[in-house]
Amino acid sequence: MAIKLCMAANWKMHKTQDQARKTATQLVQLLEAKLPQDREVVIIPPFTALDAVAEGLGSAPGFFFGGQNFYPADQGAFTGEISPDMLLDHGCSLALAGHSERRHVLGEDNQFVAQKVRFGLGKGLRMILCIGETLEQRENKRLHEVLHSQLTSALTDLPVTDPISSLLIAYEPVWAIGTGKVAKPEDIAQAHGFVRQELKNLLPQTGESIPILYGGSVKPDNIGQIIGIDNVNGVLVGGAGLEAESMAQIVLGSNE
Ligand code: PEP
Repeated sequence: MAIKLCMAANWKMHKTQDQARKTATQLVQLLEAKLPQDREVVIIPPFTALDAVAEGLGSAPGFFFGGQNFYPADQGAFTGEISPDMLLDHGCSLALAGHSERRHVLGEDNQFVAQKVRFGLGKGLRMILCIGETLEQRENKRLHEVLHSQLTSALTDLPVTDPISSLLIAYEPVWAIGTGKVAKPEDIAQAHGFVRQELKNLLPQTGESIPILYGGSVKPDNIGQIIGIDNVNGVLVGGAGLEAESMAQIVLGSNE
C-alpha cells in the first residue's frame, strides 16, 4: 500500500486570525484544482487561529489542520494549557508532539512527549511525533542512540490497534530547523532508513506504512530532491510554510 504524502506547515507563533484565514484561503485557491491524490496538506496554526484556518480551508478535500501542542489530560488545573478534546472541538484532526522547540526551549523530555503521543492517539487525534538530534549529538556520533530513545519511549506498547492511520513521525535534525541548513540527501536517507527499521521493530504489523516526514529548512527549491529520497513520505515545514505561494510550491514540488 502506497503511503500518502503528508505536506504539513507548522506556523509556530505566527499569524493573527485575519492573516491565518487569508493564507489558508489562498492555499486552497492555489492547490484545490491540482492537489494530487497521493498527498494531503496540513496546516498547524497557533491555537488562536484554529477557527480562522477552519474557515479558510472550508471543506476542501485533502486539507486538514491541527494543534501544535496539548496537555495530556481531559481537563483540570493546568493554567495556560489546552486539552485534546478542546482541539477536537475546534475541528483539529491531528497534533504535534515532541517538536524540537518544545523539547529544547520549553524543556519537554521523552517521557512527557510519550505521554502526549499516547493520550492524543487515545483521544482519536492523529499524532505527528517529532524526533531529531542536536548538532552536538550528531557530531558525537549519537544520532542512532538519540532517535532510538525518542522512538522507543513514545512507541513501546502503544494503546492503539491501528497506528497506520493515526501516527506519523517527523525526523527534524535540530540544527536544520530555521537555520537554512538542510541535511544532505545521504544523511536524510540514512536517518529515515534507520527510523523505518526502528518502526518495523517497534510496530511489526504497521511500521512499514507509517509516514516519515522530513523537516528542516524545506523550501520550494529543495523539495524536489528531498521528497524523492527513500522513506521520505512528506515534509514538516516551518518558515516556508507561512506564505501560501511557497507552501503551494512545496506541496506541488513533489511532482518533479
Ligand atoms: C519546523 O519548525 O519544524 C521546521 C522544520 O522549521 P523550518 O522549516 O523553518 O526549518
